[in-house]
Amino acid sequence: MTTKFDIYSMTKEELCAMAEELGEKAFRGKQIFGWLYSGADSFEDMTNLPKSFRQKLAERCLLYKPVIHCKQVSRDGTVKYAFRLADGEIIESVVMSYHHGYTICVSTQAGCNMGCRFCATAVGGKARDLTAGEMLGQIMVAQQDLSCRIGNVVLMGMGEPLDNLEQVLRFMAIANHEEGFCIGYRHFTLSTCGLCDKIKLLADKNLPITLSVSVHSPFNEERSAMMPVNKKFPLEILAQTLLDYQKQTGRRISLEYALIKDKNDSPAHAKALMELFSDLSYHVNVIPVNEAREGFHKGDKESLKRFLDCFTRAGIAATTRRELGADISAACGQLKHQVKQKEIEK
Ligand code: SAH
Repeated sequence: MTTKFDIYSMTKEELCAMAEELGEKAFRGKQIFGWLYSGADSFEDMTNLPKSFRQKLAERCLLYKPVIHCKQVSRDGTVKYAFRLADGEIIESVVMSYHHGYTICVSTQAGCNMGCRFCATAVGGKARDLTAGEMLGQIMVAQQDLSCRIGNVVLMGMGEPLDNLEQVLRFMAIANHEEGFCIGYRHFTLSTCGLCDKIKLLADKNLPITLSVSVHSPFNEERSAMMPVNKKFPLEILAQTLLDYQKQTGRRISLEYALIKDKNDSPAHAKALMELFSDLSYHVNVIPVNEAREGFHKGDKESLKRFLDCFTRAGIAATTRRELGADISAACGQLKHQVKQKEIEK
């Protein structure tokens, strides 16, 4: 049996090569690419292709989009989707509305192998990597459902993007393409727990995306206890890798910090973090931890302000994200658990 072409994961050039392989002229591939990202749901819709070719495509290609399994809309307008993939895996995406437009938080894997102790997605481990087409599908279906144009993408949903780098690069290239979603690379933020070997590979691509790194503690012992990845790539290696990344790409880095009550929220933590990254140009994004797992609690507003002030006093940009979608468990991994729970209860 020949394997089918996964056309939502293919670049325009690859679609042209496919057209030739199927006995047509290469430009037919360009036409298919145009149709895919302007909303065609079937090959029948691709009316400028010969009918016989459309039939052949239907036999030889996968044309599968994620299906909305459930959807929650927050009072603040945030929309959270649980999508079902062709093999039954459930993944999540969140669409947030800001004054500058719509931002989607995309999943890159079904589950995750990184094992962060505070993270809901980590609980079941990784089922599999997503294809580029499945990442694009999240944007496609959300845009159709909301009748909007999504202009910003954050790779902060389920999964570790750098553990699926090849498909993530492919995803960004297609989404960036002018006949894809035409989303500029500057409108992508890729978040990683700190896979330093992969950060180096990403630096070589020299993409003007924003790299966001989940730090969560400036102390190795504490960070290793929360994030197993730190045992492989400890903080001093991470700091050096980010410096090299910055030298190569010229991009400012974003550091993510989930603030956990009585754990990592002291001024000493802020001070140590600034020392660790003293040579780096960065911005700190502090997020009160989402109480998704046992033993990780959110502090009060005062402790958040005290932590942020340590940075601003030192002239370092530090912000906290508006907590969108708190009423619909919009944080990573939480909706999937609810879906699973309901299935168990049925
Ligand atoms: N694997 C990537 C991206 C997905 S997670 C990464 O680790 O960066 C996106 C962000 O959410 C990361 O900064 C992650 O550390 C954070 N996160 C996960 N669970 C969280 C929780 N319970 N509360 C706050 N932030 C959390």
